[in-house]
Amino acid sequence: MIPTAIPNLGGNEAKYLQECITTTFVSTAGPFISRFEDALCVASASKYCAALSSGTAALHLALTASGVESGDLVISPSLTFIASANAISHAGAHPWLFDVGADTWTLDLLQCESKLETETEMRDGHCYHLKTGRRVSAIMPVLIMGNRVDIVATKKLALRFGLRVIIDAAAAIGACFDGLLLGQMGADAICFSFNGNKTITCGGGGAIVSNNKALVARAAHLASTARTSRDYDHDEIGYNLRITNLEAAVGLAQIEQLPTFLKAKKKTAATYSNFAQHYNMLGAFPLAQSDNSTHWFSGFWYTGIDLDCPARFREYCENNGIHLRSFWKPVHLQLPYVTCLHEEMTITDDLWRRIFTLPCSTHLPEADLAHVLEVSHNFWGENQ
Ligand SMILES: *Cc1c(COP(=O)(O)O)cnc(C)c1O
Repeated sequence: MIPTAIPNLGGNEAKYLQECITTTFVSTAGPFISRFEDALCVASASKYCAALSSGTAALHLALTASGVESGDLVISPSLTFIASANAISHAGAHPWLFDVGADTWTLDLLQCESKLETETEMRDGHCYHLKTGRRVSAIMPVLIMGNRVDIVATKKLALRFGLRVIIDAAAAIGACFDGLLLGQMGADAICFSFNGNKTITCGGGGAIVSNNKALVARAAHLASTARTSRDYDHDEIGYNLRITNLEAAVGLAQIEQLPTFLKAKKKTAATYSNFAQHYNMLGAFPLAQSDNSTHWFSGFWYTGIDLDCPARFREYCENNGIHLRSFWKPVHLQLPYVTCLHEEMTITDDLWRRIFTLPCSTHLPEADLAHVLEVSHNFWGENQ
């Protein structure tokens, strides 16, 4: 079975792990943690970083540390991995879910603006949702597949309505839009995930990067049981969400290979986009041929009218040795969030079933890629 995306551990991973074992620094103290954090600051042009146990933890603590409080609403797209919404819930807040743009697949900022204008009011510099009475305290765009979000426009909207901007860049380490790295676009915080299927992995892990020193310090404090001294003194109810030196060792070895990984991702993405152009019922992922994505996942999408067709293609791939899972089911269709505040989902409701994320490991063998293209041709050639 050709997998969708698996870790590529051909660098210094084993060497650094051996160093952890030799020095016995395997837990939440050790030199690899700050080395990894420094490397993340460089990769995102950010001043401060807190490496944590997962991307979900990073989002949760970034929201809390930026001032999101219990009962608040946080704006987020519905077309995302459920962890985005879970992080909002873990912070005690509630997602306010929006559609995505047809040509970007990321948060529809026009829909956000129109709803903020008509369904909220400003009081004392804070934005309140009229119907629920809840404060709207943050906006959390998701860089889906590593794709571009207009962070400058997001920031403008946020300033108007007194919102914090937290970017779910779980899969977008290394992203660069218009020559700017993620830390240079004015967001309050940017969160990464280093789960096993992400572009770089720690096994499991995540990080917050920001230019706001107090925000990162507060997140790091909360992540380490809110401990205030070397003794057992704690000043609030904290969490245990730190990264370990073992994980950071793997992360550092991985980030050393980031340029190579991004190049490989881009090449695979371009191959699938070019392929899609030759079939009437297939479309390329948005922006897939520009420099504006990290191409975490790549593939193509079904543009035809027979909505049973995507499921048939998935089955056909499975029968031909290609692992092809369904794409993320939107948050507003998930059991824990069906009653959650959400706007019209014209694009999201239609789009999610049509997306095929094809094999795109950074070390995908040429022969495997050729097999995926051949199987795809056999299916879509006949289904024209
Ligand atoms: C992977 C992912 C997360 C969660 O990261 P974990 O490390 O698995 O907790 C959050 N948001 C998006 C968009 C992701 O792809």
